Amino acid sequence: MYKLIDGKKIAAEIRIDLKRKVEEFKNKFNREIGLAVVLVGNNSASQVYVRNKIKACEEVGIKSYAYYLPEEIDEKSLSQLILELVDNSDIHGILVQLPLPKHINAENILSLIPASKDVDGFSAENIGKLCMNEDCLVACTPNGVMKMLEYENIQTKGKKAVVVGRSNIVGKPMALLLLNSDATVTVCHSKTENLKEECKKADILVAAIGKAKFITEDMVKEGAVVIDVGMNRDENGKLCGDVDFEKVKDKCSYITPVPGGVGPMTITMLMYNAYMAADKT
Ligand code: NDP
Repeated sequence: MYKLIDGKKIAAEIRIDLKRKVEEFKNKFNREIGLAVVLVGNNSASQVYVRNKIKACEEVGIKSYAYYLPEEIDEKSLSQLILELVDNSDIHGILVQLPLPKHINAENILSLIPASKDVDGFSAENIGKLCMNEDCLVACTPNGVMKMLEYENIQTKGKKAVVVGRSNIVGKPMALLLLNSDATVTVCHSKTENLKEECKKADILVAAIGKAKFITEDMVKEGAVVIDVGMNRDENGKLCGDVDFEKVKDKCSYITPVPGGVGPMTITMLMYNAYMAADKT
């Protein structure tokens, strides 16, 4: 019998704890924690993400500074705004919602954000520190996965973990976090040979691929912990993960659902990073 890992419940509990910590920070230092959220253009998915981030700030007591900029803004003007936010001591974290319009070089913009305010954990400095197992701001989604494992008391030490996906924002930091927590880690990607055999060795299998129901029951070891990071639409337009949940679930000891699994953890970890960024100043 598998156990469902309830991301919504875990996220809600972390937010209650965070709200208390934010309140303590305010009382101790007599100042707010500030998070700047920058959205360029009218991408509807990005608008929803930004709205949810601002709502989460309200919930935990973090002051959000939202910047809604027109699609046509040029790179120089956007850079100027980011540099102002970098210099503003009321702002502890800066988040630039991706993707940016094609005429703006996202790497140039993100490189302006210092590691100390990089609440997404995307900067080379933060990723380098993660690689060296040093204290840093960690990418929100993989950090959320680690919190879920911790919450469920799932041991990683000595376990074989397989991460499918090697993106800079999910797969790679996920693999580093598992490695830092003493798992033996394999990272798979689109060029991996014998993917099924690799996945089948996993005590902990993390799917971060972006392909609906890609992980099938023949790829999962009996009793495995399966973490589904994917957010896709199935043939009926319904939200689903990278794991074929209905077929895989009975082989697992633990499994995350989509929706209600990793998703709610991501924004919660963003709030956590904003608090951590403020707490370090
Ligand atoms: P990317 O597209 O950046 O990376 C996908 C990875 O999957 C790549 O490394 C790619 O390999 C690998 N891959 C693609 N096809 C295959 C295949 N056939 N076999 C093995 N590996 C394959 O995606 P992200 O990492 O940004 O996101 C992954 C998923 O997670 C998406 O569904 C996304 O929506 C979701 N997501 C969810 C979040 C949440 O909060 N729940 C947050 C962020 C993302 P290669 O490198 O060789 O191309």
